[in-house]
Formats: sequence, C-alpha cells, structure tokens
Amino acid sequence: MQIVKREHLKQKPQAGTALGFGRYFTDYMFTMKYTVEKGWHDAKIQPNEPLQFDLGTSIFHYAQGIFEGMKAFLQPDGSVGVFRPDENWARMNNSARRMCIPEFPVSVVEEGLEELLKLEKDWIPKEAGTALYIRPTIVATRVMLGVHASTEYLFFIILSPVGSYYAHGLEPTKLLVEDNYTRATIGGTGEAKCLGNYAASMKAGEEAAEKGFDQVLWLDAQEKRYVEEVGSMNIFFVIGGEVVTPALVGSILPGITRKSCLHILRERGYKTSERRVSIEEIIAAIGNGTLTEAFGTGTAAVISPVGLIRYKKRDYTIGGGKMGLITKMLYDAVTGVQYGTRQDEYGWMKIIR
Ligand SMILES: *Cc1c(COP(=O)(O)O)cnc(C)c1O
Repeated sequence: MQIVKREHLKQKPQAGTALGFGRYFTDYMFTMKYTVEKGWHDAKIQPNEPLQFDLGTSIFHYAQGIFEGMKAFLQPDGSVGVFRPDENWARMNNSARRMCIPEFPVSVVEEGLEELLKLEKDWIPKEAGTALYIRPTIVATRVMLGVHASTEYLFFIILSPVGSYYAHGLEPTKLLVEDNYTRATIGGTGEAKCLGNYAASMKAGEEAAEKGFDQVLWLDAQEKRYVEEVGSMNIFFVIGGEVVTPALVGSILPGITRKSCLHILRERGYKTSERRVSIEEIIAAIGNGTLTEAFGTGTAAVISPVGLIRYKKRDYTIGGGKMGLITKMLYDAVTGVQYGTRQDEYGWMKIIR
C-alpha cells in the first residue's frame, strides 16, 4: 500500500478533552478511486487534507453515496482492536448494490484500514468510553447532472477520536415517537446506509431536539403503528421478560450491534424475539408494568438505555428512568469485548499489532 507522508502532524486533542462525536480528525486517510476502465484502483494512504471537486460533481446533487461506522479500541496489551469489521464491509457492499455503486474488493480496504490504524495508533484516546471512530464512505464523483448512476467514485476512510455519542453519556435517553414524518419505507433505502436517509430524517430530529428529546423513535411508514428504529440505533424492549426487537422488514437498518446483542442474549438463554411491535403494545406494556427496559444499539452509542418516550403528547417513563439489568449486562458484555477486558468468546475482535 502506497503511503504519502505529511510534513507536519496535527496537534492531537489533549488527554481529558471532551471529544464529542466526529469533531476531531486524524492526520491521514485511506482513498481509492473507481472508473469504468480501471475498476477500483489507486488505493493509498495520504494526508487527510481538503480535496477539490467541481460543483457539477454528482454527489452534491443526487446523494449517490454510502457510509459505514465502526470503532477501534486500544487493547490492554497496546494492540488495536476493531469490532466485527467484516460485518461492516459486507453491509457496505450491500448498500453499494442498492445504490448502483460498484462493489469494492474487501481485501484491499481491509489492508488499507489496517495500515491506516497502524499509522494513527497514537490518535486512539485512552479514557474510559472513548474510541477511534472509523468512517468509510463512497461518493459519486462524476461531473455530470444527468440522473444516472455515476461512472466514477471515491472511496475514503477517515478517523475521528470520539467520546460518548450523547452529551449526557450513559444517562437514559428520551425519545419522541414520530407519528408525522417518515424515515424509510419498504422498497425504499432504509436498509442501506446511504447518505440521503440521514438528510431525510433531520427535520424530525431537529423538532424533537427543540422539545428536549435526544432522538425520534420511528414508526412504519404505512400505518404509523409499528416501531422501526431510532435512526442511528436499533431499538429493543424487554416485555414480560422477553427481549423484543423489530424484525428486519426491509425499512430498518440491520445493525451489527443489534445482531451482536441478539447473539449474546440467545447464548445466555434469554428469550428473544424479532417481530413486529406496535406502539400500542409498548404503551400498554408500560401501563401494566410488563415493559421493564428499553435500549438502543449502535456503533456510535453502543448500548443506550431509554428512560422515557413521548407518544401523542403523553410521556411514559420506562424502568423508573434508570438503566435496566439486561441493558447493563449487554453494555458490559459488548464493551468488555471491545476494550479487551473480557474474553472474546465469539472471535468478534480483529486485532492489529
Ligand atoms: C448505523 C445505523 C444503526 C446501527 O448499526 P450498527 O451496525 O449497530 O452501528 C442503526 N440505524 C441506522 C439508521 C444506522 O444508520
């Protein structure tokens, strides 16, 4: 892999700085280009510096682009661990197919990420709860205003040292059940991690934030009745001792943290179910005391307890507004594997030395 070095390294955030999410970026990035003639080519690591693009470049107009999100963690022995990267590469190629983007060779980006992480190891923050966030992205780069799939693309990976996703850390989040706007429909792009999904969700997110909520809880587009997900997290409920999460019906992003939690729960003998869950069922179960916990799962927020939901102007507290036992068990299990303080029973960590 070609590595183009930079003359001066950036100033890293000082130990103890509140990193927030995606505010600092490291010195280097991985890039690779696609043209019809050459396929994916010119994979290299170069300084993370601004690039120039013609304003006619198709990504600016039609959002033909996809991304991924994963994290690297400093391990107790000084090596670097990445959580289930193979799953992210596979999902990224699924997203690519949905968005008419040519699939990329996994082995090349795998090597690119490995080299990049070796070079940027000193950027991995050490404080509890922090990590180096990895953002692989593909954007359409052909200069052309016709609404067609581009014939040129740029693949890049940038890295950002991050703290907790929500400003209040592990405090339970408040979700506003969204019964007006729609995030995704069956047959649409909800299953793909594509750029436009997030633009489409911002209006609802802003309105929820104005009312003091952390995020919205999306319902299905057709009936506004079945719970889907949170927009950057999948959602779980513990109802009558059973751990329930909405089935992947086509409009929900298939989260890797979701999949990992289901695996841990099943291995430990918890009753789980992936099915349709209506908002009426949730409200009734909160009312009669059978719904004891709710939590979101995602790479950025890891496992995030939900303490309150608002539906049709009424607030419903969940689990006394505190983190539940199953939520805590999953948080400890997943973060223990990620930070290398627990045995990696399922071989989820890719270790880079
Ligand atoms: C990325 C994402 C998630 C979480 O997926 P993970 O693989 O667990 O990080 C959930 N919902 C949406 C819409 C997402 O974009």
